[in-house]
Amino acid sequence: MQDNKTVYVTGGAQGIGLGIAHYLLNTGYRVVITDIDQEALSAATSRLKHSERLLTLVADVSNEQHVIDSLTQAVSHFGQLDGVVHNAGIADPFHGPVEALTLSTWQAYLNTNLTGAFLCAKHAAKHLRKQQGSIVMMASTRALQSEPDTEAYAASKGGIVALTHALAVSLGPDVRVNAISPGWIEVGDWQKPSRQQPVEHRSIDLAQHPAGRVGTPDDIASLTRFLLSDEARFVTGQNFVADGGMTRKMIYAE
Ligand code: NAD
Repeated sequence: MQDNKTVYVTGGAQGIGLGIAHYLLNTGYRVVITDIDQEALSAATSRLKHSERLLTLVADVSNEQHVIDSLTQAVSHFGQLDGVVHNAGIADPFHGPVEALTLSTWQAYLNTNLTGAFLCAKHAAKHLRKQQGSIVMMASTRALQSEPDTEAYAASKGGIVALTHALAVSLGPDVRVNAISPGWIEVGDWQKPSRQQPVEHRSIDLAQHPAGRVGTPDDIASLTRFLLSDEARFVTGQNFVADGGMTRKMIYAE
């Protein structure tokens, strides 16, 4: 159990972030969830147990004042901050052909996925230094391999991996900073009802994974918890690929 540890999770109202919040609450952490989506946040609050160890706040991770205010509320509510999980993201990588990609769409990806990571680290650092804390950034295997029409998403996630390296060097030895690059994670069970869709399992998708399946939010949550915990005390500045081996397997056209 991690009775006294408080972790701030961005984009925690649904998907992987909600899975992480659920996992941390069930293993004794105090959890602060921030999200831009009020409706999803309300649904998450009613779904999660251990409400005495949960604080939910509406905040846009790309808005510096929102990040400052929500971190201040988190610390004032629980008295300390031990971990930050920057998970919020525009998670759909496909924005269409690069020739038609508008500057505002490009900036929207960068603002949430990458600038949000910077703002969280910048304003959480002073709290985390006091606790010998830990930051986990949600990158993606798309920082490492690409499909067409994903430039903005790929650049934002590649930026997170490089930011993780730099932060680990700057904030050490007080704060450890690591990234996770999930592969294909099926989040259906953890999405708010209005976004839930039937899961499609095409045989090629399963064949692509040496693990024999796509991932779940729990697969990412257990790695996140490990990286936040003292068990990972000698681990910093790394990017952990959690993809069931997908990026290690060559696929040939049939
Ligand atoms: P999701 O869309 O289900 O959840 C993302 C959450 O972030 C939502 O609740 C959304 O409201 C919130 N959010 C979006 N913009 C925000 C902002 N500006 N401020 C605060 N909150 C904001 O997505 P997911 O699939 O759970 O993905 C979570 C993270 O994991 C993302 O960073 C995504 O890029 C990354 N990721 C996901 C997968 C996957 O297969 N699901 C794979 C690799 C990486």
